[in-house]
Amino acid sequence: MALATPIEEPRTSFAIAQRQFDIAADLLDLAPGLRSILRSPQRELTVNFPVKLDDGRIRVFTGYRVQHNLARGPLKGGIRYHPELSLDDVRALAMWMTWKCAVTNLPYGGAKGGVVVDPKQLSAHEIERLTRRFATEISILIGPERDVPAPDVNTNPQIMAWIMDTISMHQGYTVPAIVTGKPINIGGSEGRNEATARGLVAVLTQAASQLDLELSRLRIAVQGFGNAGANVARLLQARGASIVAVSDSRGGVYNPHGLDPVAILDHKGHTGTVSDYPEGEQISNADLIELDCDVLVPAALGDVITAANAPRVRARIVAEAANGPTTPAADDILYDQGTLVLPDILANAGGVTVSYFEWVQGLQEFFWSEQEVNAQLERVMGHAFHSVLRVAHERGVHMRTAAYLLAVRRVADAVTTRGIYP
Ligand code: GLU
Repeated sequence: MALATPIEEPRTSFAIAQRQFDIAADLLDLAPGLRSILRSPQRELTVNFPVKLDDGRIRVFTGYRVQHNLARGPLKGGIRYHPELSLDDVRALAMWMTWKCAVTNLPYGGAKGGVVVDPKQLSAHEIERLTRRFATEISILIGPERDVPAPDVNTNPQIMAWIMDTISMHQGYTVPAIVTGKPINIGGSEGRNEATARGLVAVLTQAASQLDLELSRLRIAVQGFGNAGANVARLLQARGASIVAVSDSRGGVYNPHGLDPVAILDHKGHTGTVSDYPEGEQISNADLIELDCDVLVPAALGDVITAANAPRVRARIVAEAANGPTTPAADDILYDQGTLVLPDILANAGGVTVSYFEWVQGLQEFFWSEQEVNAQLERVMGHAFHSVLRVAHERGVHMRTAAYLLAVRRVADAVTTRGIYP
């Protein structure tokens, strides 16, 4: 492998995840054995499985479940449906889940899964059959004490309900804690649906106050209008901020005087996209990254802020709702130009935090009010933000590296305390 230079970009998301890890491992002076343990996933499952399509044909799909590290507890992480998903992406996403759970101090290791599929090409019945068969294929790995899936890109509470039902049918009794992000009527948690966004807003609020910025005066650009992006836009607007741009996979819309996220959500419900919303100028996803705004929220896919466009990012704060939106080279550029990056493993950890609350509630069969969920979420996010900020100041590093220092240390300590079996 070629030697890294500061501006050389790793080529795959897993190479990026490993680069981020290496930076922290070097600063922690991690012993070589520990470093090798944490640098690669512990288990990887690839499944090729048939699904009957509505017209009677059979199509074989490929899916994955990767378990990165089990040292701190059962595994946790979402399931993503995407046509370009690769095993390498899932490895990166699983590793990021390990660090995310460690930053927030949740008693979990990191995992991730997914199916290579464009769900927009399938009917609801086909997605249900695909989900039930995929759940069966990965049932050899998942379980309430073993590995607990959740929603991610292109998956949702209904899909979690089908996974829960499928595993419960195999068991012969209901197993609510097998997944999180379920609908509330079958054991989901209050507040889970908007938890990723609420957690991000909590972290952004703390960051803004550190920079003496008033949330209500900020102009926000949000890339992606799924669960995270749409709720971030809605919650920030409710706090008085101005949403100047939003987008989805087909493109975006910009209005320097502010957009109404609720009206845009309604528009998307009718036309399937935000990109043709009439009350603004049409822009591309690439334009959105470089817009004149105060806060940029990448809330879609990875690798969107790179060495190529980072010098043109004008936002004062980048708050990462997506996983892996910024490459290591872009991180350095943003840091040098004074942009504060709130890294994914901190900024979007609200989702898995309320997943943890849902899992605890499911195991105890004792349910909390939305107010209690939100208060506990604020507590966890506030604590994580200040712990990361402290490390950033102490070590003179940016927030991503600080978050990694905290997380990698915690996981390395857990591995060391448990010892190497046998
Ligand atoms: N998919 C979300 C994430 O990337 C949530 C994972 C979970 O709740 O387990 O953090």
